[in-house]
Amino acid sequence: MSYCQNVLEYVIRRNPHEPEFLQAVTEVLSSLEYVTSVHTEYENIGILERFVEPERQIIFRVPWMSDNGNVNVNRGFRVQFNSAIGPYKGGLRFHPSVNVGIMKFLAFEQILKNSLTGLSIGGGKGGSDFDPKGKSDNEVMRFCQSFMTELYRHVGGDMDVPAGDIGVGAREIGFLYGQYKRIRNVYEGVLTGKGIAYGGSLGRTEATGYGLVYFLEEMLKERNTDVKGKKVVISGSGNVAIYAAKKIYELGGTVVAMSDSNGYIFNKNGVDLDSLQVGKEIERKRISQCFAGGSGTDYIENCNDIWSVKCDIALPSATENEIDGKSAEMLAGNGCIAVAEGANMPCTPEAVKIFMENNVIFGPAKAANAGGVATSALEMQQNSMRTSWTFEEVDARLKQIMQNIYKKSSEAAKKYGCAGNLLAGADIAGFLKVADAMIAQGIV
Ligand code: NDP
Repeated sequence: MSYCQNVLEYVIRRNPHEPEFLQAVTEVLSSLEYVTSVHTEYENIGILERFVEPERQIIFRVPWMSDNGNVNVNRGFRVQFNSAIGPYKGGLRFHPSVNVGIMKFLAFEQILKNSLTGLSIGGGKGGSDFDPKGKSDNEVMRFCQSFMTELYRHVGGDMDVPAGDIGVGAREIGFLYGQYKRIRNVYEGVLTGKGIAYGGSLGRTEATGYGLVYFLEEMLKERNTDVKGKKVVISGSGNVAIYAAKKIYELGGTVVAMSDSNGYIFNKNGVDLDSLQVGKEIERKRISQCFAGGSGTDYIENCNDIWSVKCDIALPSATENEIDGKSAEMLAGNGCIAVAEGANMPCTPEAVKIFMENNVIFGPAKAANAGGVATSALEMQQNSMRTSWTFEEVDARLKQIMQNIYKKSSEAAKKYGCAGNLLAGADIAGFLKVADAMIAQGIV
């Protein structure tokens, strides 16, 4: 049995109730087979055994009071997975599905993603099973204050710098930051995704979506084509989805379908993004309520059916495992030429296999959606320098970073004998830098 297979068995034995974490580790270790067969020294120093075990995981109680006086108790998490190349960095997710296995999968992926950006950031992730949907602003504020009243002990500008993720946007980051500052009495860049008035970076809101499309552009160059004139399906209608759609329109593509967790909208001439953005970002409506009847937009209840819509490009940007084998077959059968992951692990392993077998270019999340965290790291740099860059400056750096990530992933795949496989290439390129740092720092 190979070193990677041995380590995988060990991880399966020790984490039997964490399917998403096991899925992520299985995928990464299968890519690392290409590397460990060359770097046989890794086994003697237990690199992989250490790489798959978080440095620290924190679970805590988050009590808070509803507007009607009821007391609620949620569970808070922060997984500090790997700090070999920099302070832990990774978002906070507020969603009822959050549990320790999901936090570990996201933090594990984050190590490689952050390494690929070329910036000095380690991997972490956190969140809570709290659901902000349907809560008043005051309830969200009380929850965030309670969450930070515990989390503040474990984070800091040079230690661990969380950001947003599902359910954590500008409003939540503001409340979390306010409470951190109140408790610690320091004004430091402990969170990214902050408002511009208090240390945020221009371009951070757009970064993951824009970065996804910059990465897509590099993928399409492989086929000597570009976004112009292409029909695009984007799942989700949150931060990643909205700004990916915006960039697609800017580049001359048409977004024909978008979704939320209840259903999807379809418009053959292109979804009206302005109405969607106001409905989702400002009015916090369901996607079904964002369009008036007769606007040419149809609403279909059942978000998973979005993958039956015929398109040239698919950008899954909602959540994990949203494209299964059946959906992947539909996409490939309908002539889709490229899939780039805006969400984390939105395609099941079966779906990825189908894309590769059908010559659909596949851009894996840890490379394709790294623009958000990369721009978060740029926010950290600006905070440290007590300066702020223009939108154009940040956007230009983001584009350059995404092009570099594509190049690194593609070159690593070539070098280690899996040319064209961007998934393996991204895993390998991300891992080698972390492994070098871990080796240099001894057995820690
Ligand atoms: P948001 O909360 O802004 O939006 C999430 C969107 O996905 C919403 O439309 C939501 O619908 C939908 N969604 C969430 N859960 C499900 C589900 N179980 N089934 C179907 N739809 C669902 O989150 P983001 O846009 O920030 O994040 C989306 C994805 O991108 C996540 O995987 C996240 O980890 C990843 N990501 C985000 C980054 C960022 O910078 N924001 C950076 C890198 C990755 P509804 O409103 O109905 O819940």
